Amino acid sequence: MKLELVPRLCPLCGSAESRLRTKARIDESRLTVSAFASRKLPEFMHLAMVECASCRLLYANPVPRPETLAQAYREAAFVSRPESRCAALTYRKLTEARLNLLPARESALDIGAGDGAFVEQLLDLGFAQVVGVEPSLASIAAAPPAIRGLLRNALFEASAFRPNSLDLISCFQVLEHLPEPAKTVREAYSLLKPGGLLIIVAHDLRALSARLLGTRSPIYDIEHLQLFDRRTGSMLLQKAGFEIVAIEAVRNCYPLDYWLRLAPLPAAVKPLAGAAARRTGAGDLRITLSAGNLAFTARKPTASA
Ligand SMILES: [Zn+2]
Repeated sequence: MKLELVPRLCPLCGSAESRLRTKARIDESRLTVSAFASRKLPEFMHLAMVECASCRLLYANPVPRPETLAQAYREAAFVSRPESRCAALTYRKLTEARLNLLPARESALDIGAGDGAFVEQLLDLGFAQVVGVEPSLASIAAAPPAIRGLLRNALFEASAFRPNSLDLISCFQVLEHLPEPAKTVREAYSLLKPGGLLIIVAHDLRALSARLLGTRSPIYDIEHLQLFDRRTGSMLLQKAGFEIVAIEAVRNCYPLDYWLRLAPLPAAVKPLAGAAARRTGAGDLRITLSAGNLAFTARKPTASA
C-alpha cells in the first residue's frame, strides 16, 4: 500500500503555524488495510505529528488524501466481536448515566458503528429509531442479522439525516480518524434536537499511559490524524456551539487477552502471552482498567442565541 501524503491546516483552529513534535514512522511494506481496522494489534507506525502554534492541538501533518482514507476504511478488516461487545457495554454505562438529560428516546445515531454492538445497546435502552453509520464492509458483515439492517455502509454525511431530528449522537473512538473532526462535530450539532446530546469517547493525550509510553503508546498510530485532551476536546465541542455537560476518564472492560495484545510487550512475546492466557481460560477474564480514554458529553443548548 502506497501512501500519498498532503499537507493540512490545524483541524481544530485552522492555523497554518505548527512545530514538528514527532517525525513520521511508516514502513510502507507493512502497510495493509488491517492498519485501518479497529482494535487491531498496535503496529507502532504513525504519521509526522505537529503541535499547532495557536491552539496547541497535536495533529498529523501531512496526512493521506481523504479518498485514500475512505477506501482504506471501506476495505478495513473487522477484528473481534467479543471486544466490540465489551466496548459497547462500557459505552452503555456512560450513556445510561445521561439518559435523564435527553429530550426523548426517539432517535439515536451511532457514528462509526462497527458491527453494531452499540446500536444493539441503544435499542435495549429503549430508543425507538436507531441508525449506525460504518464505512467498513467487513464490520457490517460481522453484525448480527437483526442489527445489520440498521447499519448504513457509509462515511458519516449530515445530508443523510434531517436537521434537529436526533436525541442522541454517539461517536466512540472515531474523532482521531477523521480528516475534518470539526466539521463532523458541527454537523452532529445541526442534526441534534435542541437539548440533544453528543457523547464522544476519544484517546486522552495526557493519560498516564500516553505520557509514560510516548510514541510507543498505541495512540500514536497511522490511523490517528489528531489526538485530543480535555482542553482541545472541549474547544472542539464549544466551537461548534455545544455546552459541555461532563468530561470523564473511561474505565474500559475488556478480556485479558485484549489487554495483553494492546500492551507494549515485545512482538515475539505477545502471541505467547496471548496463547497462554487463552489456554488457561484467563484470556476470557473481564478486566476493567482505565485505558486512557476520555468521554465527553455535550449538549446542544435549548435556546439558541
Ligand atoms: Zn490549532
